Amino acid sequence: MYKAPVDEIAFTLKHVAGMADALDAGMFGELGEDLVDAILSEAGRFATEEVAPLGDVGDRQGSRLVDGSVKTPDGWRGLYHNWIAGGWNGLTAPEDFGGQNLPHMLHVAAMEMWNSGSMAFALGPTLTMGAIEALEKHGSDALKATFLEKMISGEWMGTMNLTEPHAGSDLGVLKTRAERRDDGTYRIFGQKIFITWGEHDFTDNIVHLVLARLPDAPPGTKGISLFLVPKFLVNEDGSLGARNDLFCHALEHKLGIHGSPTCTMIYGDGRYGEEKGAIGYLVGEENRGLACMFTMMNNARLAVAMQGVAIAEAATQKAVAYARERTQGRAPGWKGEGMSPIIEHPDVARMLLTMKALTQGARAIAYACAYAVDMAHPSDGDAALRWQERSSLLTPIAKSFATDVGVDVASLGIQVHGGMGFIEETGAARYLRDARIAPIYEGTNGIQAIDLVTRKLPLSEGAQVRGFIGELRQVADAVRASNRQGFGETATRLDAAIADLAEATDWLQSALADGKQADALAGATAYQRLFGLMLTGIYLAKGGLADAGDGKQQARIALCRFAAENLLAETAALKDSVVNGAASLAAARAILD
Ligand SMILES: Cc1cc2nc3c(=O)[nH]c(=O)nc-3n(C[C@H](O)[C@H](O)[C@H](O)COP(=O)(O)OP(=O)(O)OC[C@H]3O[C@@H](n4cnc5c(N)ncnc54)[C@H](O)[C@@H]3O)c2cc1C
Repeated sequence: MYKAPVDEIAFTLKHVAGMADALDAGMFGELGEDLVDAILSEAGRFATEEVAPLGDVGDRQGSRLVDGSVKTPDGWRGLYHNWIAGGWNGLTAPEDFGGQNLPHMLHVAAMEMWNSGSMAFALGPTLTMGAIEALEKHGSDALKATFLEKMISGEWMGTMNLTEPHAGSDLGVLKTRAERRDDGTYRIFGQKIFITWGEHDFTDNIVHLVLARLPDAPPGTKGISLFLVPKFLVNEDGSLGARNDLFCHALEHKLGIHGSPTCTMIYGDGRYGEEKGAIGYLVGEENRGLACMFTMMNNARLAVAMQGVAIAEAATQKAVAYARERTQGRAPGWKGEGMSPIIEHPDVARMLLTMKALTQGARAIAYACAYAVDMAHPSDGDAALRWQERSSLLTPIAKSFATDVGVDVASLGIQVHGGMGFIEETGAARYLRDARIAPIYEGTNGIQAIDLVTRKLPLSEGAQVRGFIGELRQVADAVRASNRQGFGETATRLDAAIADLAEATDWLQSALADGKQADALAGATAYQRLFGLMLTGIYLAKGGLADAGDGKQQARIALCRFAAENLLAETAALKDSVVNGAASLAAARAILD
């Protein structure tokens, strides 16, 4: 059974991602280390004792559509109510509306633990938090007054309705219609698919944020508006009024996250209300809906990154526990009686250490991204811009690398279990099934790579990425200068990986400058992984360099050396793919016709 790794999480936050320095510098106001530790410890207890035990039930039962209503798995409604009673829904939300205004770093750390317990469960609150953020930034005062407090307390949940059957990665072609009404409201008509937690029995009301197009809107992404469309209209006194004209038509049968209802939503077909059309309220300005969505996109993508880390952590714990118990053969040098535990076999140890290194690397990248988000807020001028750009640069890497790691590590976890891994009752298979969606939604990892190469590398004319690479070199230098035993070839391997990244970055920048867009995009995913892998090496080294006084420094150095001398070799191949792969891809393309 999963146990939240609170100490490891706290260590990574403070000593790898930068929280300790920020706390010392008073960047987070009154927040002190004691409170950070207390929050992490309670979030971890909740994940371990309350969420994780209900994860399997959710997977087996799934959410079901019964007479137009969604029935969630046994125990989940109570779990959700315990979760909001703990105040977890409003961790980063503004204090004016009942939130706690705590740093994103704490939030992502807590999210990791809840997602390890059950990704399908944690997904509901994740979507609500996205909706809260969009509303807080772009909603009118009246909308905020009516909806925000109840969403922050968790009394009502929220959803994000973007996708339509023919409009997924390309939202510019979406067709859902919005019509103006004289009273300032709008009527919404259309179908949305794949809407996470679009209908359920957790809360009395559900607040849908829906992208739609006005009749006179310009074509493409510049003609999309954002609307708040509640399941039940809200009376002036805050009580629930009439049912709005929308409903969940069907639930998808999915590979994983069975507890999370993935809904087809129908708006405005006349099932409810006197006049056809779901009543919606404009959020932000007409035709600026996508821009509103984009302001919350970074945090939403980071939230999905945490799902990857979460699954990787849970899968690793399960695999390590199994490998200690399961005995087969005799490992070289095994001195015990009879068969050795499989953990003694070098190949099994290789798998487990790879799982640990990738998990910790992905965690550190995601936390470093959250740190940049937090640092941008209290800073101003150049510093604010630098931190904003840093979080923008790290977001696609965190989202893609961590979610790929979730899948890879969950798959390795099954391999460690042998045949039992393929059998559902072990629980290892669920992790792989659940993890598989995260590289797809919230912008596929292919879309993240395009974003990284075409929008993030050019930030400040390339100065952001160059400055970052310069900082990474300092970590390699610090390892070289360190007098701690056990780093082995780490510094040399880090130098080589950084050189690979720098060369690939220069190549991509010149390809873009020369207008060779297709060449640059051909290597975008390889580049994204190269960046993530190299950062894994760097952040594990930072962890190895830090002495937190917890007696684990030598173990951290050993893991860092393992990653540097085994996993970082891949960066050379990835660099080669970026700088030399485009021509062969173009030449082979015709094979697919
Ligand atoms: C379980 C689940 C939950 C979801 N939850 C929500 C939700 O709550 N709200 C919501 O609005 N949506 C939700 N989605 C939808 C999800 O965000 C989309 O599936 C995703 O954005 C991809 O869109 P698509 O499925 O249409 O794939 P497509 O866009 O058709 O992509 C197919 C493939 O083509 C690639 N591709 C597409 N365009 C390009 C391009 N320009 N360049 C290079 N490659 C490209 C993609 O990377 C992908 O590999 C959910 C989906 C699932 C399965």
